[in-house]
Order: sequence, then C-alpha cells, then structure tokens
Amino acid sequence: MSFGSASVRPSTQAPCPCGGGTFGECCSPILDGAAAPTAERLMRSRYTAFVIGDAAHLERSWHPRTRPDEVVADDGTVWHGLVIEGAEEDGDAATVTFRASWRQHGIDAELRERSRFVRRGGRWVYVDGDVG
Ligand SMILES: [Zn+2]
Repeated sequence: MSFGSASVRPSTQAPCPCGGGTFGECCSPILDGAAAPTAERLMRSRYTAFVIGDAAHLERSWHPRTRPDEVVADDGTVWHGLVIEGAEEDGDAATVTFRASWRQHGIDAELRERSRFVRRGGRWVYVDGDVG
C-alpha cells in the first residue's frame, strides 16, 4: 500500500472526520488498534483512515481474502463526509449502507455502497460491497 504522504491525524478534541463526535472518542482508539465494537464503527474508522491516509488501519481492517495488494489514495482527494444510512448485524456478519462524497481534481463525486463485514477472532473486518 502506498499513500505517498504520512498520515496527518486530527487532535483528539477536533471533530472526527466521520462525523461521529470528537476524534479522540470516535475513531482514534480504533485507528490505534482497539477492536471496533460494531461494524458501523469499523466502517467509520475506515472512512477516517482514507481521509487521514492511515494505510495501516485500512490493511488491518480488510479481510485477507479481498484485500487489494495496494491501495492508492490520491493526494488530490478532498473528502466531504460520510452518511451512514443503515447498519445490520447478525451474529458475526454485518452490512453497513453508507454514502461518502469527495472532490477530486475539481470534480465532485459520491459513492453509495452496501458493505459486508464479518467478525474474525473478535474483530470486525471489511469484506466487500455492492455499489449503488
Ligand atoms: Zn469517527
């Protein structure tokens, strides 16, 4: 994985990039390696990892079967926000539906995805998702 630049983390009192509260109470502990209590919290922490360029967290929270060899984050991407539309958990499987928007090279873009997660060894990991 390559991000081209070191990750820049917000202060613990700053709003979390995912919109879930202060960074110190929201995604920071999960980025530091704490197990996400729910698949939604893992989803939020992965969005935040994209925003701040934390490739290690993206790699660690991705199922080994579906994890790409390399994730390239474009430095020209400005993330606008995350909206969680719904989350369902059934035992060790979960789905989270979200919308994420960003601006890249002057063009606004939005992704809506229904993501699948599984819990392996007590930790939620991202498997894959259906776009649309
Ligand atoms: Zn967060």
